[in-house]
Amino acid sequence: MKIRSFDVYILDLPTIRPHQLAMHTIVSQAIVVGCVTDEDGREGWSEVATIGGASYGESTPEAIKANIDTYITPLVIGKDPIHFDKIMFEISKLVRGNNFAKTVVEAAIIDLAARSKGVPAFELFGGQIHTSLPIAWTLASGNTEKDIEEAQEFLRQKRHNIFKLKIGKGDPFKNVEHVRKIKAAVGDQARITVDVNQAWDEDTANYCIEALEDGGVSMVEQPLPTWNYEGMARLTSRFKVPIMADEAANSVQDVFQIAKHRAGNCIALKPCKAGGLTQTKKVAGIAEAAGLGLYGGTMIESSLGTAICAQLYATIPEMKFGTEIFGPLLFKDNITVNDMQYENFEVVIPTGPGFGMEIDREKVKHYTRSEG
Ligand SMILES: [Mg+2]
Repeated sequence: MKIRSFDVYILDLPTIRPHQLAMHTIVSQAIVVGCVTDEDGREGWSEVATIGGASYGESTPEAIKANIDTYITPLVIGKDPIHFDKIMFEISKLVRGNNFAKTVVEAAIIDLAARSKGVPAFELFGGQIHTSLPIAWTLASGNTEKDIEEAQEFLRQKRHNIFKLKIGKGDPFKNVEHVRKIKAAVGDQARITVDVNQAWDEDTANYCIEALEDGGVSMVEQPLPTWNYEGMARLTSRFKVPIMADEAANSVQDVFQIAKHRAGNCIALKPCKAGGLTQTKKVAGIAEAAGLGLYGGTMIESSLGTAICAQLYATIPEMKFGTEIFGPLLFKDNITVNDMQYENFEVVIPTGPGFGMEIDREKVKHYTRSEG
């Protein structure tokens, strides 16, 4: 069985409400979808999401597609999909960086390899350890009363009991007060975490994290810019509240440096940051060896990309901080026939062939960005 073709599509999927981050407010999310076919006409599908063009990271949807089409596709044609790790190793020798692009390629090949054997993709990673994982939600209305109402409603529904607030935009001290009020309202029923998306300097972080810790917040994500490893190390040693590295924790080499310098005591995993699923497993191994807590991160993927993350995270022994793979709940529509399931404060790991999602071609066509 050999790979015959690899196609890449850029889709724009509308969200149910604006989703505000420090660098960008998402109202329509750009996702990149990959489709690999073999000589027998079997298909494997994949997805990565990007946030705000080039504002979150270096990989834009346009660059991902161009670099796969031009430089990576010629390297996968004729290869056997079951050798996905070997294929990615060969690609790594000829294509530097491009971690999002590599993830699109590897995940589609893994989906095809697993489908051709009639098994879920997690079987190719040694088997499923978790059948479900804790799932956080992001409160993002910006209005304290509304956010408290939303949190209480999701607690009643048993949908989420971990709530994250994106507080990198606006006045840091007002944002901290907003978070403390929400934590006071939900009390012990829910954990409250914050994500600063690199927006603070170290002085601001010192004041704000002290107040957040005092208010009962249970994790602070990427308070400082990615380059400031030493500042992250100082915050980690000063505060009891766990400091998480996200944008700073990409490759295995990044995570080794974070572990070595203790520039954070936990990290957010995302396959696209590491350059694929096998690389993410290696990142998780380094974190495990260093005693860093793990969190199943999201770039706000739709159902397909979320299923890829879910199946991968299900193979990692300890996900101390749970996950935030709520993307499908934020989109107005879906590009798969089936959808991710959420119940009892957890995301259910899909168990169908491949990553467990059946593609809806009409929807892919409908949301594919027209060229020119
Ligand atoms: Mg983050």
